Amino acid sequence: MFTEPFIQDKLNKEAGWIEVITGPMFSGKTEELMRRVRRARIANQNIEIFKPEIDSRYDKVKVVSHDESSMESKVVKSPIKILDQSSKAEVVAIDEIQFFDLEIIEITKELANNGKRVIVAGLDKDYLGKPFGPVPGLMTTSEFVTKLHAICVKCGGLASFSFRVKPSSEKILLGATEEYEARCRNCFYAENA
Ligand code: ADP
Ligand code: ZN
Repeated sequence: MFTEPFIQDKLNKEAGWIEVITGPMFSGKTEELMRRVRRARIANQNIEIFKPEIDSRYDKVKVVSHDESSMESKVVKSPIKILDQSSKAEVVAIDEIQFFDLEIIEITKELANNGKRVIVAGLDKDYLGKPFGPVPGLMTTSEFVTKLHAICVKCGGLASFSFRVKPSSEKILLGATEEYEARCRNCFYAENA
């Protein structure tokens, strides 16, 4: 259904690129990130996995999907730290990318320009359905974009939205699973007009 980048078949050994995996909560972004990392491991590539410090759900040092599989990752406060800590990496994977500030766009560009394969995963929209932080910019600067879908918990359709069940004044959307539902457009805007 989606086109996977040429992944291991790095035709030009010098060239790097950026892959974006995006969509709503529960759409399998983390699973897909881990799948790509696993394949790069099989190919014996040097891989670094990062996530922002703000993502406190599940685990402090692991990337964890909603089906509870996980991988070790480095937690960083700011995008520049990723550059510092990935000089030897051939593949740089970053989860929960939406929580980084816009500087992450420059940092991923730098990494890819230095010949690295950069895989980022994160929400395209916040709980109001608005573009989320650096993700729209990354979708523009990347070579590949994969938009995933979840299953709408109301109607079983394809979900592209993350609905916040409990109203809250908190601006930042933190991924406490119980507080959000995957919803399709109709079911999302039915209660979010
Ligand atoms: P994301 O990173 O996009 O939030 P994850 O990779 O962490 O997604 O988790 C995806 C997994 O979440 C699915 O494989 C499935 O087991 C589970 N899941 C829970 N609720 C839903 C839903 N409404 N639609 C699809 N998958 C769901
Ligand atoms: Zn629906």
